[in-house]
Amino acid sequence: MEKRALGKTGLSLSIVGFGGFHLIEIGSGEAGRLLNNYLDRGGNYIETAASYGDGNSEQKIGRAISHRRDEFILATKCEVRDAKSASAMIDRSLRYLQTDHIDVLFMHAVQTSETLAAVLGPGGEIEAAERAREAGKVRFIAISGHGHQPVLEEAVARYPFDVLMTGFNYLDRFNFPEVESRLLPLCLDKGVGVLAMKSVADGYLYRSWEPAIRYAFSLPVASVVLGMNDLTMLERDMSLAERYSPMAGAELERLFREAPELGDYVCRMCGKCRVDGFDPREVFRLEAIYDRQMDDRRIDDAAPYALRERLRFWFGQSAEAQAAYGSSATRVDPERDYSGLSSSCPYGIDIDRKLKIAHDKLTGSAYIY
Ligand code: SF4
Repeated sequence: MEKRALGKTGLSLSIVGFGGFHLIEIGSGEAGRLLNNYLDRGGNYIETAASYGDGNSEQKIGRAISHRRDEFILATKCEVRDAKSASAMIDRSLRYLQTDHIDVLFMHAVQTSETLAAVLGPGGEIEAAERAREAGKVRFIAISGHGHQPVLEEAVARYPFDVLMTGFNYLDRFNFPEVESRLLPLCLDKGVGVLAMKSVADGYLYRSWEPAIRYAFSLPVASVVLGMNDLTMLERDMSLAERYSPMAGAELERLFREAPELGDYVCRMCGKCRVDGFDPREVFRLEAIYDRQMDDRRIDDAAPYALRERLRFWFGQSAEAQAAYGSSATRVDPERDYSGLSSSCPYGIDIDRKLKIAHDKLTGSAYIY
């Protein structure tokens, strides 16, 4: 299996990373079979978090493969923000994982500037990470976050993180375009190793799992961390990695045009409908932060409907989007007819209807469209 460099760490990772969250859903025996199979098939990056089942995932990894510790790169995540508690959590992780060192330790789920300030400030989590690194318990310090996240750009600018992990998939590419257009180049420029998670958007892209994972493999990331909890899933992901070819050019454009999850509703942010004094993307960008443009006010199949209801507020940023719209210079006039803009959209989006739905969402149902 292809291996790629993780920034400047000197580590080389298999393009399929093993995401340990779903180990909490299965027994220790099954977890052991899965983890050992992953290593046997050429995988070498295993990731978990102290918070996954309050240590359940870490303990299963420790029991199953600590005897093969020199065959894999091990990452875990800490989500307590003060140094004293974080030190205790790191020691617990080492104990549960049955190892004397963690290769990559994440400051987990840093979503706001306030959280970042707590992590990096005096007595913050970073002090525990640095002390653990000095003691040889941790090799590299990393950060992770989800969704709309200017805070990760701030984090990389303020602290020399070795590694960063965030979501990359072809749906959120259009919802949070700054991740690929700004954050990723910034990390590559600084030599920060980048890991991709959520390549199938927490299951939302289940109808297109293969192109979804291929899309993530095709990005300049070191590894794509995939959650799995049975051998069939493991086999599927590993064989895809072994035979994958990068996605680019016409194939990529075909995916963006035809993917059912994008359909004729998700704005691809191409800008072709922009007219003097009004750019619909400014509204759709906030709709994306509000609910990832998932609710198109249609009920098609039950499964995608149920998934969108589960996932559209997954990152909890709807209030932030509504506040930004409240002070935005680009607002929808509910009395205006925007139908004329639709003819310029290559993706068949009914721009008048979408603008009014977005306005409805962003004004908290104050408007009846
Ligand atoms: S033309 Fe369509 S895809 Fe492009 S910005 Fe406008 S609504 Fe979005």
